Amino acid sequence: MKTITNGIILKGYDLTPTKSNMLIDEGKIIEISDKIYKGEIIDVSGAIICPSFLNGHTHIGDSIIKDCGDGKSMDDLVKPPLGLKHLALSRSSDDEIISAMKDSMWEMLKTGTTHFIDYREGGLKGIELLKKAASEIPINPIILGRDPIFHNNTASAINIRKTTIKLLENCDGIGVSGLNEVRSEVCEIIVEECFKRNKISSIHVGEYLKLQEKSIKETGKTEIERAIELNFQLLIHSTYPKENDIKLISENNKILTICPRSNGTLSLGIPPFLDFKKNGIKTLLGTDNIMFNSPNLMREMEYSLKALRAKYKTYINPKDILKLSTVEGSNNLDKNNSSFYSVVNKSVIEEGNDARLFISKLISKNPYLNIINRVENENVIATINKNKFLYWNKR
Ligand SMILES: [Zn+2]
Repeated sequence: MKTITNGIILKGYDLTPTKSNMLIDEGKIIEISDKIYKGEIIDVSGAIICPSFLNGHTHIGDSIIKDCGDGKSMDDLVKPPLGLKHLALSRSSDDEIISAMKDSMWEMLKTGTTHFIDYREGGLKGIELLKKAASEIPINPIILGRDPIFHNNTASAINIRKTTIKLLENCDGIGVSGLNEVRSEVCEIIVEECFKRNKISSIHVGEYLKLQEKSIKETGKTEIERAIELNFQLLIHSTYPKENDIKLISENNKILTICPRSNGTLSLGIPPFLDFKKNGIKTLLGTDNIMFNSPNLMREMEYSLKALRAKYKTYINPKDILKLSTVEGSNNLDKNNSSFYSVVNKSVIEEGNDARLFISKLISKNPYLNIINRVENENVIATINKNKFLYWNKR
């Protein structure tokens, strides 16, 4: 039992700054009150206590090739099976891959991320490697598996189904690379099996204009339209939605992860976040391939806030950006997305919820911009998750 005292808590779904103490026991927030002092006292006078971050999209496997291939085309870099990334992974030993993934997970924890939704390539073995890497680290990987058989145009429906079921017995869902690489029949099986088991079905869509145009030319529909018809639940990117796409994502209660730094790295544009927000679309922030960008969500938030203000030439509230990394992934009121929320648990700071917290020094007058603009590693006090208190610097 521990009480964190004298911090400024970003409380509730609206991240309201509240000066109070917080009692934590067995990994849960038991009480928030300025009168409480029980168990070990952890005084964090003047620090900001924020819900820890959820990274909505990573490919942690490519931690092994950070900053390789800068300037090459998308296909040359990441298209399975012959992209630079897939070749590098196939040439690396298990121990090398595990060690690089561990480094990335510690970097995430140090910068406030306790949960991340990972597109894990390499079938069952890929899943096992990530589980092994994460086994002694107090972090929650949410693993969306994938098998090379999904890309095999001659594989039978029965084999696809068998493989999908086997993967789902070992992970939290399936992450499909894209509609260009995987046939609709395969997607149908994946989505169906995910729904049956209350697991997440996810796919990359509309990452750049050419993909959308190619899809319209070949099928009369955008990638986003097709992914929604197939009933995928978590859509990644949607950097180039058509007007009707935004309506469809909203009406069908799909969850969206945008990855602004990744789009920036690949010279692809800036995702239209304000249009998503206006249409009530639940949006998360992801850092995407670790080969292109660090999995540090504070860097992602700073880039996003400023790139979006520049894109729209209007004010964007930093609190709305901080929500993308924290409470947006936690609203469990939406029954249509029960499988998503059964996997991604609540990060809202409220009594009864898990204590998954990020504590940093207050070095500016604005608690939201403090996190987005100012906090560097030396200003991080602690990350709390899975009943573990990780202290990075003196309080
Ligand atoms: Zn991705």
